Amino acid sequence: MYKAPRGTADILPEEQAYWRYVESQATALCRLYGYQRLDTPAFEDASLFTRSIGESTDIVTKEMYVFEDRSHNKLALRPEGTAPVCRAYLEHGLGNLPQPVKLYYFAGIFRYERPQAGRYRQHYQFGFEAIGEADPALDAEVIDMAWQFFKSLWLNDLYLYINSIGCRKCRPAYLKSLKSYYSKHVAGLCKDCQTRFEKNTLRLLDCKQPTCQEAAESAPRSAESLCLECGEHFTTVKKYLDSLGLPYQVNHRLVRGLDYYTKTVFEIQPHGEGSQSALGGGGRYDDLIEELGGKPTPAIGFASGMERVVLNLKQQRVAVPDAQKTEVFIACMGEQAKREGVKLAATLRRQGIAVAGALSDRSLKAQLRQADSLGSRFVVIIGDDEVKAGSVTLRDMGKGDQRSVAMEELGKTLEDILRCAQE
Ligand code: AMP
Repeated sequence: MYKAPRGTADILPEEQAYWRYVESQATALCRLYGYQRLDTPAFEDASLFTRSIGESTDIVTKEMYVFEDRSHNKLALRPEGTAPVCRAYLEHGLGNLPQPVKLYYFAGIFRYERPQAGRYRQHYQFGFEAIGEADPALDAEVIDMAWQFFKSLWLNDLYLYINSIGCRKCRPAYLKSLKSYYSKHVAGLCKDCQTRFEKNTLRLLDCKQPTCQEAAESAPRSAESLCLECGEHFTTVKKYLDSLGLPYQVNHRLVRGLDYYTKTVFEIQPHGEGSQSALGGGGRYDDLIEELGGKPTPAIGFASGMERVVLNLKQQRVAVPDAQKTEVFIACMGEQAKREGVKLAATLRRQGIAVAGALSDRSLKAQLRQADSLGSRFVVIIGDDEVKAGSVTLRDMGKGDQRSVAMEELGKTLEDILRCAQE
């Protein structure tokens, strides 16, 4: 028997209500904040990612799915969503539009990681990017939108962490002081961090190993080594966040895993879990567009893993609307009844009412059980008596009552009740 590849998962019909709920809340939010949808291909030139994410990051060194196609192009399955959006921004001349250009996406993301709860080799991200504006008011707007995304889903007990990791002017000096600090601690660090010490010093700060965390606690802080411009930017972002009443905390160990970030970085985490379980994160990437061949163009974005959001919705027992329920089930007894049932089902569907049933010769009990498992609120029962009388029995499963309705009246009656239920 075949199985889905390790680290991937099927999203079964019973899960879909959660996914559609997250998607619809996200889409509604994007409208409120003025974002438009962009879809990019699942694979890109591998060098787009090596250039942007950084040669020595975990994603590029260990996790990217890289392959050569039959024309010897070196391609990579998308390991994150920001670089493709920037590529599209440049390729389609979106820099000529009024700035900032605000784009959002839902995309499959591929990373060869060690699979565990909430960590997959293929996962889906909802992300948004605002490109072409340097003002700290945009940082606050993006952080607010990310926070409202989770609030609109009724997720509680979340932490909002922010930090500033400076820019290419002030970061080299900070990295130097960080390296000098860690040179005294390197022997006590985990194996991965001993490699990071040489290649990706900033990432030493967010290692999850207890001994590394201890060392990180007393390490020099990026927010205390900012140049004048980055310092003012960070102070202003915090002022805006205060005025919006957002419950943020400055976390000096928050650095994010991709090299392109500058200035503001932020993450949203659920209560009581390790930072492995971030629900979403983002930050500024003021140099990325230029790095990819464009004019200097400041930008900021955010992405959230849909699987983790769904996991948290279940853990917090958030009731999600089930748009997939089949509203009406038609139970038929006998050949003639079935003929009427098939016609009624077709008529109701043409009216936009979801209908199941009118298919089998099973017992009424078995058909009612099926209606129940589909979550149908109404069951239309047709037997010999009903056929003779030109009527059906309409049972309201929620209320437990039933009445007789003329066949030609059924469509209108159901439409009236269902419209009332929506109002
Ligand atoms: P990142 O691009 O690493 O900043 O990830 C953005 C968000 O995607 C994270 O906050 C997680 O919610 C989610 N995420 C990242 N990696 C994975 C993964 N391997 N499996 C599931 N979700 C992930």
